Amino acid sequence: MVQGIANWSTEQSREWLQSYVDDWVSFYRKHTGEGSVAEYIPQLATADPDALGITIIGRNGIKVSSGDVDLPFTIQSISKVISFIVACMDRGVSYMLDRVDVEPTGEAFNSIMHLEMKQVRKPLNPFVNAGAITVTSTLEGKTSDEKMESIFALLEKLLGYRPALNIDVYESERDSSMRNRAIGYYLLETGFLESDMNTTLETYFKQCSIEITVQDLARIGLILANDGEDVETNEEIIPRPIARITKALMLTCGMYDASGKFATYVGIPAKSGVSGGIIGAVPPRVREEVLPFMEGCGIGVYGPALDDNGNSVSGIRLLRHIASQWDLSIF
Ligand code: GLU
Repeated sequence: MVQGIANWSTEQSREWLQSYVDDWVSFYRKHTGEGSVAEYIPQLATADPDALGITIIGRNGIKVSSGDVDLPFTIQSISKVISFIVACMDRGVSYMLDRVDVEPTGEAFNSIMHLEMKQVRKPLNPFVNAGAITVTSTLEGKTSDEKMESIFALLEKLLGYRPALNIDVYESERDSSMRNRAIGYYLLETGFLESDMNTTLETYFKQCSIEITVQDLARIGLILANDGEDVETNEEIIPRPIARITKALMLTCGMYDASGKFATYVGIPAKSGVSGGIIGAVPPRVREEVLPFMEGCGIGVYGPALDDNGNSVSGIRLLRHIASQWDLSIF
């Protein structure tokens, strides 16, 4: 573990942090070849498999960025965090938790096995596709653009700018969406959808195609780590109870079928997406040693080469290493 020093915000210690992270990024970039980029959405297959970047922003203002930090990519499943927050803010937490449960599935993100075989009352959580599409159907608005407005409005508050859609990814996703359409029809038949199915699916494809960078993810992660408040202005952007539930879901259901392993070995509330992004929200922790980011931080990672669980192969290793070096686990 990195040795504790009294103050991590001096110029010299910032330089140390930067050089540690630079070394770790170049080391773990060598592992990208052990994974492969997602191909079931053809446009995602065009990503550079060797890309790797990370941004960490502390609640104390320290920011470390290394690797491919300006490379835009689509948010994909990380959008499920945003749409769930928006729906909870607009409809209320209990309304939403009546419609989606908060249990990990242990199945692939796009499976409907539990719904069908176990006859569960509702999708098991908002981060699997069945749950996310159900959540998206509750967003206000009649058209997909109207529904997207509430997602963009929250992102604009979180990021300080309005991100754009990647139209090529959106069209590619829409045109290769057989499985998501199957889920849509299943949810329609079983009465889970609150809006027209095609409008709901269009909205879902659009929300997954929003373009962001690791710096954006780190900023959103920081606000979640800070219980929904903007660190600089103290403005409440996400109500605390919603930030709390969202982090609990990230920890238990955020990393596909590897959520248990990630919670065990990394210990950070996080959510990944098939484009290779990972968002992490590290709350303040109490330790005897003064390690970097003890007061909490937000993390954004991008590495499009994925492991068998659909998580960034190098991104996971990089996070695991940093979490053990700086004792970032919440446990
Ligand atoms: N748009 C993707 C899908 O529904 C998102 C999947 C993901 O990132 O997990 O297939």
